[in-house]
Amino acid sequence: MNVNLNKRPVIDQTLATTGERALIERIRRRVMASGTPLTDGLRVGIGDDCAVTMPPDPAQWDTLLTSDAVIENVHFMPATDAALVGHKAIGRCLSDVAAMGGEPCWALVNLVAPPSTPLAWADAMMNGLIDTAATCAATVVGGDVATGPTLQVHVFLVGRVAVGHAVRRDGARPGDAIFVTGQLGGSLAGRHLTFQPRLAEGAWLRAGGWASAMIDLSDGLGIDARRLLTASGVAGRIFLDQLPLTAAAANMKDGSTALDHALSDGEDYELLFSVNSAKKDTILKEWADAGLTTTCTRIGEIVEGDAGRLEGVTAEGDILPLEKGYEHFGTSNTANPFGSGNACTGRRMADAMDGDRNRDPGVDGRPG
Ligand SMILES: [Mg+2]
Repeated sequence: MNVNLNKRPVIDQTLATTGERALIERIRRRVMASGTPLTDGLRVGIGDDCAVTMPPDPAQWDTLLTSDAVIENVHFMPATDAALVGHKAIGRCLSDVAAMGGEPCWALVNLVAPPSTPLAWADAMMNGLIDTAATCAATVVGGDVATGPTLQVHVFLVGRVAVGHAVRRDGARPGDAIFVTGQLGGSLAGRHLTFQPRLAEGAWLRAGGWASAMIDLSDGLGIDARRLLTASGVAGRIFLDQLPLTAAAANMKDGSTALDHALSDGEDYELLFSVNSAKKDTILKEWADAGLTTTCTRIGEIVEGDAGRLEGVTAEGDILPLEKGYEHFGTSNTANPFGSGNACTGRRMADAMDGDRNRDPGVDGRPG
């Protein structure tokens, strides 16, 4: 949508010359033009002090709340396509809602940007964000723009899930099988900007009672699997020769194997979940019969053992401890100039090139 609120051509404008009110008006018009269903429940959207929504029927719905941020030089680079920055910013929150088996409703977006930021960048970023929101039936209902030293997009997302049926991380039990959607590894090659939140898959898993526990893979299979195991108080084994690997994982050319990438790389945004023993042998047929086109692969099993212990089983049957995956606020990786973040840090870019993957996962920094 082409909104011309200022006389100067958009190409010459910055956020400083545009002004906050005009920028917010541009965003409001884009949301209105996005085709997002302004579903029942929204009384006041962008333009007042607060958005106003009606609470969902508490007899029917629980509310899901999540937030995330993408920051320049941490989660995207200055040259990254702005629309993909917007897609990623809301996509991370949508992936969290998917991991609970829920559906997204409302989003608040805070843009922090230097005054010299081109208006065209903000337009393109919001277009990408709003397009992805509309695709997933989420509506941007408000937010803020603020001046800051670096580009940052903070998204706050409200969703809903059938009352009492949010799929948590703590339901895995010994005897359950472990499954994953899609393929893993090598997201830094581009998929961290273009991933599709697995909302339909998460909702199907929740509706059919398939998943006993679930998490989305934001920090890498090694770390996120241990989060699920720790929450559930169980141990797990991954069948290393069964992991679905992306072509990108095999083509990173950094000295690490595709398997190493699948275990360690963050930002796959796939769903990792456990399925109880009564259902684990029928789920893949039901998955296909339901018309879900995303691949789903059985990659391991829940076993008795120390909470959070993760092991790999080789094709030969050897059992190895698994302690890989990128950690926020990395403990031993003192060379990381950014200190946190899980994708496009300069350090990560360097990792991808020099094959230095000697990270100590340490203690979990935050929930994924
Ligand atoms: Mg998550």
